[in-house]
Amino acid sequence: MRKGEDKPESLTRDGPLGLYLHVPFCSTSCDFCGFYQIQSDRKGILSYIDGVKRELELVDAGNRKLDTMFWGGGTPGLLPAGDMLKVAGAITDALGKPRQEWTVEMAPSSVKRDKLEALKEAGVTRISMGIQSLNERLLDALGRQHSLKQIMNAYEMIRDVGFRSVNVDLIFAIPTQSEEEWRADVRGALALEPDHLSTYCLTFEEDTALFIKLQQGKVKIDTDREARFYTVMWEEAAAGGFGQYEISNYARPGHACVHNMNTWRMAEWIGVGPSAASQWGGSRHTNTPDLKDWLAGLERGERGLVDRVELSDGLLLEDSLIFGLRMNEGVDLAALKRRFGRDLEDFPVLRQLVSEGKAERDGTVLRLTSEGRMVADAVGEALLGELS
Ligand code: SF4
Repeated sequence: MRKGEDKPESLTRDGPLGLYLHVPFCSTSCDFCGFYQIQSDRKGILSYIDGVKRELELVDAGNRKLDTMFWGGGTPGLLPAGDMLKVAGAITDALGKPRQEWTVEMAPSSVKRDKLEALKEAGVTRISMGIQSLNERLLDALGRQHSLKQIMNAYEMIRDVGFRSVNVDLIFAIPTQSEEEWRADVRGALALEPDHLSTYCLTFEEDTALFIKLQQGKVKIDTDREARFYTVMWEEAAAGGFGQYEISNYARPGHACVHNMNTWRMAEWIGVGPSAASQWGGSRHTNTPDLKDWLAGLERGERGLVDRVELSDGLLLEDSLIFGLRMNEGVDLAALKRRFGRDLEDFPVLRQLVSEGKAERDGTVLRLTSEGRMVADAVGEALLGELS
């Protein structure tokens, strides 16, 4: 570490800086959701806005400028337009407007014209809408509150107000979903002509309604089926002119999510709001995942940080490799050597990935093959703990 600075050499002052804002409010809880979320009421929203302002006062970014910002949740779109402007104003007063990209997640049922106009006025450049499926039966199976009609109306309104980039999220391998239903969902989403498409394999997070069904044997995990669904996605995205740039993400040229790419490349980001994670100030940490506890900490002038891990070049190198390999561009081993001072050319786990056909070399770049991408989670697990 540099003298007088408490963060690793590899995190430079001129590296990209992001801000993640967690808005914890949802109207109801979806069956598969493992995020921290609570039902919203006026009192809760007002105290949350106050908390955001207080937390920002405790974040000392010096004269660093924000490159990207991402509002996730929860459902940021549940905030009324005036409150969105208050939160946006608090952040931009403290840290300025992000120079490159500003994403806000919206649920179809929360999309309203006045909110979109407020976000546009604030400087938001990218809307990400979690549609999950275009099939009413599957939306119901997921416990989602929106209908196909709401999705269509919301999407049209977002386009009409006009943002530089629009993403839609889909979920696949939903219990009872057939391969053909998944293909229809992907085709339907592509027919909307978004700029970006995220597709997530349904996961069974602990303490969710879906996890309980799994334990009761009412649903089961079928990895062969999941692999077939991945293949369908790759075929349809390629046919629709969408390039895959990460395991779960596809975009038209120039529309990859910069905020997420920076986090996968192990840049720094500040998390604000209950349960928000940060990689900032020499550590990786999470804000306490409870609105009341988070507010109580801020009252005392403290950010209630839990799960704190001190950053080291070894940890950042390992995660650059794990997350970098999830991106189609792969990792440039020469660039990693320049940044972290470690030569991975003969690193046994990487050589093994190549010999097993899961990764391939292109000069100094190492990237996963399609076979490797299919087992990207297992590749990550094999690398875990090898370098940190
Ligand atoms: S999936 Fe999204 S909308 Fe549903 S409960 Fe979770 S955070 Fe809220």
